[in-house]
Formats: sequence, structure tokens, C-alpha cells
Amino acid sequence: MSNGFFNVPKATNEPIKSYKPGSHEVTELIAEYKKQYNQTIEVPLCIGSQSIKTSKKAPMSPPHDHKHILGHYYLAEKSQVDLAINEALSAHPRWSRMDWKDRAAIFLKAAELIAGPYRAKINAATMLAQSKTVHQAEIDAACELIDFLRFNVEYMTQIYSQQPNSGDGVWNRLEYRPLEGFVYAITPFNFTAIAGNLPSSAALMGNVVVWKPSDSQVYSAKVIIDVFKEAGLPDGVINVVFGDPVMITDTILAHPQFAGIHYTGSTQVFKSLWAKIGANIHNYKSYPRIVGETGGKDFILAHPTAQVQELVTGIIRGAFEFQGQKCSAASRAYIPKSIWPKTKDLLLSELKTIKMGSPEDPSNFVTAVIHENSFNKLVKYIDAAKKDADAEVIAGGNYDKSVGYFIEPTVIVAKDAKYVTLCEELFGPIITIFVYEDADWEKAIELVNTTSGYALTGALFCNDRYATAEALDKLRDAAGNFYVNDKPTGAVVGQQPFGGARASGTNDKAGSVLNLLRWVSPRTVKEVFVTPRSYRYPFLG
Ligand code: NAD
Repeated sequence: MSNGFFNVPKATNEPIKSYKPGSHEVTELIAEYKKQYNQTIEVPLCIGSQSIKTSKKAPMSPPHDHKHILGHYYLAEKSQVDLAINEALSAHPRWSRMDWKDRAAIFLKAAELIAGPYRAKINAATMLAQSKTVHQAEIDAACELIDFLRFNVEYMTQIYSQQPNSGDGVWNRLEYRPLEGFVYAITPFNFTAIAGNLPSSAALMGNVVVWKPSDSQVYSAKVIIDVFKEAGLPDGVINVVFGDPVMITDTILAHPQFAGIHYTGSTQVFKSLWAKIGANIHNYKSYPRIVGETGGKDFILAHPTAQVQELVTGIIRGAFEFQGQKCSAASRAYIPKSIWPKTKDLLLSELKTIKMGSPEDPSNFVTAVIHENSFNKLVKYIDAAKKDADAEVIAGGNYDKSVGYFIEPTVIVAKDAKYVTLCEELFGPIITIFVYEDADWEKAIELVNTTSGYALTGALFCNDRYATAEALDKLRDAAGNFYVNDKPTGAVVGQQPFGGARASGTNDKAGSVLNLLRWVSPRTVKEVFVTPRSYRYPFLG
């Protein structure tokens, strides 16, 4: 029982450490990386109070060193998925009634654990699992996850404080109940922060969760599970299962108490999930919440007034950081003919300075792509572009998977404005450039708007205010996150709420009030202090 309206600590963004050569933080992180690299771990399922080792397990390896085994994780059978659902539902009565300040305290503590004692651990695990550089691991696994946890607590209190008016003799209240049933969180490989946020945001609002991480992120997901446990998350609130995504999903979506899905991943999978939910709709107790952040074909549009150095920096950082495997990564750019020669020269000379290799060497800017399937898919597009009359590979184009899944940052120039790599999400270090006539600025805007079905992020480089206003207006529906004179990646929680529409998702803006609202089902309570005792109104005489 809490006798007080508590203020939560004011949420602020976690400062990003620099990891400059020779700094304490880089020495500590690389030592932790080596320690983790040289040990092997086992990752069991985490269901209720149990850590379960099943009869089947799969290996975990760094993408940049795929012959090395970091350990194994255990694969669920259907009976364990059923158990995870049952444990979640058993935890529901207590967790969903727990005072919000206690839930807040658990996730605020998790944020502080990651900011302090777990920082190097979660960053090193992300470098190993997803092949992120020191900087990419820091901005994702440490800073963004800390920000999600802190800001979500603040947003939760903002939601709870939204209360209706009350007339004379009446007290109206809005109670933000968790959903009745359980939430299913499915997370992608590419952000440790998203992996932590999707189950925890729903749990923070009082929901119980079954979480299925990506097979390619289990190694860093293990640190998240450890942090939540140490922060005091009660058993059964977040239950973690690994394994066959179709079996796990079919089992969960067939359950009558399935109450919502919190998904991030590719568009095709999300569409299949939506169809399955639709097919099961008559079985559910409630209409499930469907939240999905999906693919992108994110653009850079340069106006003739764009500053070339800024544009080239935006292209390199936007397209090639984390090997182009951010949902927000720039993968198509539209550049006017007048500035193309200078842009091309600078781009090619800057690309020559980029180093590729293991993240253990902090001077590498590019590391490996996530797995062999991704490598093979990207190679097909590169090889086709090398042969295609409609395309020219002007930089990169080499690849090697003997040690790790390495693909050089690759720039394709397309002659056809609808060339395949301008339309499809490739999810790798490849950007395709279309050079347009300066007089065709308006046509270029139209191309940006209509070439792909996605609408996640986009960046405009422009120093003409009329043109900026025109592009902002005409591209209103082309991106959920629009950048002016900046790269299209790197959204910060609390500053640029993230998500897109069209084929890019339900645009529920992770790390914002809008997202948390999806995980509550408000109950309105009207209490009357002096209750009428006769049906007769005055007008009856
Ligand atoms: P993915 O679609 O391969 O996998 C995402 C999750 O879905 C994983 O947990 C996976 O195991 C699971 N899954 C795969 N097939 C499934 C099936 N048939 N049924 C149920 N679950 C299934 O995506 P990924 O490669 O992990 O991540 C990259 C994708 O995620 C890209 O398309 C990227 O644009 C998108 N993404 C979007 C955002 C965003 O905010 N919009 C953020 C990050 C990633």
C-alpha cells in the first residue's frame, strides 16, 4: 500500500562513452570480450522459476569467426511452450496487481545494472553475438536499452496520470489495466535494445509475457535475462523460449488467452503472424493487440543545394554502420547530376579508408553480416549487379566467408530508377544510387515516394527552405522517421520516437507513450456519492 503520489526519477539519455584508443572503457570492454570469447556457456530456456535444458541444443558462434563456438542454447519442444504460457498465466494475478512503483523499481534497477556492472558484459556479448563494433554495441546494448527502461517508466506515470473530469458528487477514474491473458514478444537479431524492450515494455505495464528471441541473438539475450533476474523480476513474468519459430508461434497463437503480439522483424513474417491471428480470431477471449515494427527501404534524397561532405558522411554512416543491418539503414540514394561527380569522388576516397574485420579491433568500422543465409542472399544481389546492364558496382563488391561473413561496403549505381536493389530490402552493406537530372527534382521526390512499399526512415540533404518544405510535405507518408541534413539512422529514445507505416509496421513508436498505450486496457470507474433514490426527473412535474 503506497500512501503517496510518487515521482519517478527524471528520465535522461544515458551518455555514450567514447571508447577512444587507450581509454579505460575500451580496455575494460576488450578484456571482457576476450574473456567471453574464451569461455563457453549454456543458455537454457527460462520458464517460471526453472532453467530448462532440453534434449536438443544449437551452437552459437560470432558472425565474424563462425567456426568458433561460444556455447549452446536449448531448443523448446511444444510441451515447454505450453509450460511457458501456463507459467505466464499463473504469474498474472499477482504481477498485474503489483503496485506500479514496484514494477517501476525493478526496471529502473535493470537500467542501472546495465549502466554499471553489466555494461561491458552486455556490450561484449553484443559484439560477439551480432558482430557489432565497440561503438555500435555501446549505442545499442547499453545506451538504448537503458533509455528504453528509464523512459518507459516515466511514460507509464504520464499514462497513469491521465484522468477524466468528475462532475458534482461524482468521482470518475481511469484505471490502466494490463491485458487479460499474456503477451507474445518476438524479437529480431539486430538490436539487443529491442530484444530487451519488447518483453519489458509490456511487462512494465503489468502484463505477463512469453518471449522468443532471434536464434542469432541468444548469446546477448542471455545477459538481458540475467539482468532482469538480478533486478528482481518475479518468476513467470517474462518466460523465454528458443527454437523453431513456427512451432512456437503456432502454439502461442492458438491459445485462447493470447492477448497481444509485440513483434519486430521482417515484413513477410509479420504479415504471416497477422494472418494466423486472423484465422484464430474466434478462439480468443479478447481481440489481441497487434504491434509490429518491420522492414524498410530507407532513402537519402539529396537536393542540388546539398553540402557534399555532409551528404557523403550521411551515406557512409547511414548505409554501412553495422553493415547496413539497421532497419533504418540507408539503402537507396537519389543524387542530382550537378553534385554527383564531387559526391562520387569523395565517397570513393572515403570508402578506401574504411577498415573491415573483427570488432575485437576497435579500428574496424565494418564487421561481418549476421549469418550465412544473409551473406548468400547479399552475394546474389552483388553478383547480379556486376553482370546487369542496368547497374554498375562502383565500390566494394568483394566478399569472403572463409572466416566470417564479410562483405565489403558496396555501392551500386543504377541506370533504371526501378532497379531491383532500389526496391527490395537487402539488409546488408549495399547502397544503390540513382542519379537524377537537376531539373527533375519533383520527379525524384515522386520516385522516393513510390519506388518501395516501405515507409520507415528517410533523409533529406538540402539547403533550400522551399525545397525542404516541399519534400517534407510530399514525402509525408514515405517515412515514419524523417531526417533533414542528417543520416536516417540512430533514433534516440525520448528524442525521435521510432517506427514507420505502410509495409514498415504499425508505427506504434517503440519507447514512447504511444507504444505503452497498446499494452493497457483502461477501465473507467464512476463512483456516485449521493445516489438517486427515485426514477422521477424534475421535467416529469
Ligand atoms: P526475421 O523476420 O528473420 O526474424 C524476426 C523474428 O521473427 C525472429 O525472432 C525470428 O526467429 C522470428 N521468425 C522468423 N520466422 C518466423 C515465422 N515464420 N513465424 C514466427 N516467427 C518467425 O528478422 P531478423 O533478420 O531477425 O531482423 C531483420 C528484420 O527486422 C529486417 O526486416 C528489419 O528491417 C526488421 N527490423 C525492423 C525494425 C523496426 O523498428 N521497424 C527494427 C529492427 C529490425
